[in-house]
Amino acid sequence: MTAETLLSEPDRLEQWTTAPLLAGRAAVVTGAARGIGLEIATVFARHGARVLIVDLSEDDAQSAANTITAAGGVANGVGADVANESDVSKVVQTCLDTFGALDVVVNNAGIIRDATMRKMTLDDFRAVLEVNLTGTWLMTKAAGAMMREQRSGAIVNMSSISGKVGLVGQTNYSAAKAGIVGLTKASAKELAPHQVRVNAIQPGLILTPMTENMREDIREAKLKEIPLGRIGRPSEVAAVALFLASPLSSYVTATVTEVTGGRHA
Ligand code: NAP
Repeated sequence: MTAETLLSEPDRLEQWTTAPLLAGRAAVVTGAARGIGLEIATVFARHGARVLIVDLSEDDAQSAANTITAAGGVANGVGADVANESDVSKVVQTCLDTFGALDVVVNNAGIIRDATMRKMTLDDFRAVLEVNLTGTWLMTKAAGAMMREQRSGAIVNMSSISGKVGLVGQTNYSAAKAGIVGLTKASAKELAPHQVRVNAIQPGLILTPMTENMREDIREAKLKEIPLGRIGRPSEVAAVALFLASPLSSYVTATVTEVTGGRHA
């Protein structure tokens, strides 16, 4: 190995830190009409990506896309249920038709149906598994098939710290989010020979519509568990998604990054 070879990769990294990190890339972000997904889509657009916003409501997806477009980005919105296989095919096709490419997928759509097992119904269990885990699998399968042919791509899956430690009242959600870790690592190994990377993020407590109506005593108890002493912001998750989607993480795959302020580390 020559000195030049040794220097070339850091030199390229230096370039990337001063240029838009996703220039020319086409990205799909699911569950992006609000919350963490909207923040990820906004940050990606700011870094030069053309973004397809996916959400259950086509109107909400389109209105989020309009906000990004009004701020100078390139975005479009599509209504789709990530747990529905034909909807997922439609998302991939829409991205290809609209932007002519699909380089990045963020599987962010998720729901909670919290209850202790004593009270949780089978419907609540299945619904959470369907959206969080089956939805992530369907999108990874569809996008992975396309990305492996083009021999490039980055997939980022939204797990949760609940999937690492298991939280009371979340047997459904903890199971789904732990399943996403297994899915991430297995699909990363299948797709690595085709130069497609798959990584996961485990956020802790982040201020979004999903968490803002939490009971005050529960919020206070959770805050005491966080070494950094505060709730996280969607932008702090989006920054990690940007890193994992961009060439800055070109040698990173099959990993899980915790964005928790140190909680449950
Ligand atoms: P959020 O505010 O509830 O936003 C989730 C979005 O996903 C909503 O717009 C929702 O649409 C959409 N969605 C739900 N089911 C869908 C489906 N089947 N197909 C397509 N879109 C669907 O959630 P968030 O707090 O931003 O969380 C985003 C992700 O981070 C989730 O995977 C969540 O589990 C994970 N996470 C969040 C936290 C946190 O503290 N907030 C912590 C750890 C992990 P509707 O509004 O129409 O339902």
